[in-house]
Amino acid sequence: MKLSIVVPCYNEESVIGETAGRLVRLADGWISTGLISDFEILFVDDGSKDNTLAILKDLARQNPHIKMISFSGNFGHQAALSAGLHHAGGDAAVSLDADLQDPPEVIEEMLEKYREGCQIVYGVRKERPDDTAFKKYTAHAFYRLMALMGVNIVYNHADFRLLSRPVLDELKRFREVNRFLRGIIPTMGFEHAMVYYDRDRRFAGQTKYPLRRMLSFAVEGITSFSSVPLRIAAFLGLFIFFMSLLLSGWALTVYYAGETVPGWASTVLPIYFLGGIQLMFFGILGEYIAKVYMEVKGRPLYIIREKYNLEN
Ligand code: UDP
Ligand code: MG
Repeated sequence: MKLSIVVPCYNEESVIGETAGRLVRLADGWISTGLISDFEILFVDDGSKDNTLAILKDLARQNPHIKMISFSGNFGHQAALSAGLHHAGGDAAVSLDADLQDPPEVIEEMLEKYREGCQIVYGVRKERPDDTAFKKYTAHAFYRLMALMGVNIVYNHADFRLLSRPVLDELKRFREVNRFLRGIIPTMGFEHAMVYYDRDRRFAGQTKYPLRRMLSFAVEGITSFSSVPLRIAAFLGLFIFFMSLLLSGWALTVYYAGETVPGWASTVLPIYFLGGIQLMFFGILGEYIAKVYMEVKGRPLYIIREKYNLEN
């Protein structure tokens, strides 16, 4: 079987050489043990502003197993990943981050699962020894929130996974612009398995996911897969409506009993309360409408500037 390894890269000049070297060494080893018969390593340069592109070009020139797609600008991790998976020519493709946080040695276990007939193999992190407590906590909260919102994702699984040819072909039919692969893949069915591993520290360079991007990633994930927030809005609205009916009844009785006290609190508090809730749910609605807007425009996910060593 031929294995494709897909690696999205954005400003990864400090790690990319090491990553390529390690992947080539490993894949050569798997060929000699007969686990695979051929491989390609497909780097997707997501419009890096540093030397990543030049380094990748060099690598592709030296080794025909190394292939490369370069984008015309920065389209984001999910777009880069999608481009790599669309262009992967192998019988199965493994995606992993450029920073070597997902140890590539684990691919061997994934390949064994694939041999046993699994079409999707998820890499699941056991622990994150070197992440800051803050990153650990926010990542945990992220998965909890997603589960709460009814988004079907695999706990502690990022984008380190093996997809077989049939899955890759079906994935091409998912045309959504708002793309959250971690949510899409589990909805696809197929036989799947998990492989557990310890997440390493970033080999070099720094994370491209500061809190701001993590938050927007979470919102993206929820609003592209779940309508629970809209339902919360509806139920809360209904609840407040009934409460206000009760309150009106109470106000009437008090009025006829002649005990009304002109109240500031009872007038002003509901205004703030309802105003706040309305604004909040307008925001949620807006989030979904923006999604619909983007989908309707149907813009391309990414724009490819150049391809190296790729025939398709
Ligand atoms: N990445 C990308 N485009 C971006 C941001 C990140 O292709 O706009 C790549 C990055 O090069 C890396 C992977 O996505 O291979 C994950 O990014 P990072 O390691 O910064 O995220 P973290 O592991 O800290 O969540
Ligand atoms: Mg990383």
